Amino acid sequence: MSKGIPAKVKKLVLARDNHNCQLGLPGCLGRATEADHRANRGMGGSEVLNGPECLVAACALCNGAKEDATGDRLEQLLDRGVRVLKAATNAKTRERCEMTPVAYLDGRVCQLRTDGTLKNLELVVS
Ligand SMILES: [Zn+2]
Repeated sequence: MSKGIPAKVKKLVLARDNHNCQLGLPGCLGRATEADHRANRGMGGSEVLNGPECLVAACALCNGAKEDATGDRLEQLLDRGVRVLKAATNAKTRERCEMTPVAYLDGRVCQLRTDGTLKNLELVVS
C-alpha cells in the first residue's frame, strides 16, 4: 500500500502516467491503481518523498513486489529510473528523484516535475 501519500498526489500521479503501471514486473496487471515510491523511504517514512517527482504509477501487484526486486531485476528498474537509490538524507533522495529521468514503458524519457507534470527529454519515434 502507498502509506502516507495524499489522495490528491496519488490521483495526479496516476493521471500523469495514464493509469499505466510503469514497473512491468512479471505478472504485472497493467492498470495502475497505486502511486509507488521510487526510493525506499526506510524506517518511519518521510513526507519529503511523497511528492509527484518521487512517485510512479504502479499496479497492485508491482507495488507489492517491487521491494523484493534484486539483482538483474533491480538493475533494470534502476536503469529505467523507476527505482532510485536512497541518498544520505531524504532531502537528497528527493533531489535525486527529481534529477533522475524515468524511461516510460511507452518509450518516453521524462523528468518528473514537483508539480506533477513531465518534462520530455527524448521522443522515441516508433
Ligand atoms: Zn505492474
